[in-house]
Amino acid sequence: MTKIITADNIDEAALCIKNGGTVVFPTETVYGLGADALNDEAVRSIFTAKGRPADNPLIVHIAHIEDVYKLTSFRSEDAKKLMDAFFPGCLTLIMKKSDLVGGVVTAGLDTVAIRMPSNPIAHELIKKSGCFIAAPSANLSGSPSPTVARHVIDDMNGRVDYIIDGGASEVGLESTVVDVSGDVPEILRPGKITYEELKEVVPNIVINKGILKETDKPKSPGMKYKHYAPKADVTVVMGSKENVRKYIESRITDNVGVLTYKGGTYNGAYVINAGDSMEEYANGLFYNLRLFDEHGVNTVYAEFADEGGIGLAVKNRLFKSAGHKTVDADIIK
Ligand code: AMP
Ligand code: MG
Repeated sequence: MTKIITADNIDEAALCIKNGGTVVFPTETVYGLGADALNDEAVRSIFTAKGRPADNPLIVHIAHIEDVYKLTSFRSEDAKKLMDAFFPGCLTLIMKKSDLVGGVVTAGLDTVAIRMPSNPIAHELIKKSGCFIAAPSANLSGSPSPTVARHVIDDMNGRVDYIIDGGASEVGLESTVVDVSGDVPEILRPGKITYEELKEVVPNIVINKGILKETDKPKSPGMKYKHYAPKADVTVVMGSKENVRKYIESRITDNVGVLTYKGGTYNGAYVINAGDSMEEYANGLFYNLRLFDEHGVNTVYAEFADEGGIGLAVKNRLFKSAGHKTVDADIIK
C-alpha cells in the first residue's frame, strides 16, 4: 500500500527511508524515488519499483556539502569550483567513490553521482532521515519523468511506500550531469544548468558526443536506454516556421497531437503550446508528453527550434522521446 502525504507528514516518510523503505519526493528538477543510498536492499527496491536495468547507476542526494567528503575519495579543483558555484541546485557531479558507497547504487562503477537539491522538502527529507538518499526520477523506466504528483501516482501507486505531494516541479527537467572524475570535466547529460554557465566556471569543460546521438556505449550508462517516451509515437519537426507548419498540417488525421512552439493552431489536432521560450518548453515537456497520452492521441508532431542554452537539454530529451525520429521540413515536404 502506498501512502500519499504532504510535507506536513514528512517525519513518517523520513523514518520510512531510515528503515529501508521507499519514498517519492519532490525536487526542483523532477520527482525522485528515494531510498537509503548505503542500504543495498533498499537501493535494489528502487530498481524493482521502476523496472530499471541494474547497470544504470543512481544519483545520491545529500543535504550538506561536507557529505561530499564522506562519499568520495578524490575531488578535483574543477569539482570544488563547480560545487561552490552550483550546489545546492540542478547539477550532478560524478566523482571517484569512497569505500562507504556500495556497488548497487553505482552499478559496479568506481564513481558515484552526487547532487544536493535545493527544494526545501527534498532537503528536509534527507536531513530528517539522517541518510544519503539514492533517487532516480520517479517514473516507470522508459516513461517521461513525473513533474506533478498525479503523474507519479499513475506510475508508482502500489510500488512504493510513500509519495509526498509537493506540487509542480519548478524546473521540469532533470539535472545536468558532469563527470569530474577525469582530467577534463565532461557534460554527460545536459540539463537546467547550461554549457554556457558551466564554461564560465570551468572553461575547459567539454560536451560528451553521445548526447544527441543514438549510441550503445555512452559514458553515462542511462543514456543508452529508451527514455522519456510517451505511448504515442513522437516525431520532431524542424525547419522554417512556414515549412514546419505545412509539413505538420499535411499529416493531420484522427488522433494526432501537435506540440507547437511559440504559438500556432492546427485544425483537427489536439494542440499543446510548448511555450514561448526554451525555458518554458523545458518546464512543460514531460508534463505535456504525458498529457498527449491522457488525451488518447497516437501520433505527436513536436515543433522544435535549436536555440542553445537549455535548448540543448530539451533537444536531448525530445529526440530520445521520439526515438530519434526527426524531420527537416525545409528538405522533406
Ligand atoms: P536519473 O536519476 O534517472 O535521472 O538518471 C541519472 C543519470 O546519471 C543516468 O543517466 C545515469 O546513468 C547517470 N549516472 C549516475 N551515476 C553515474 C556514474 N557513476 N557515472 C556516469 N553516469 C552516472
Ligand atoms: Mg530518469
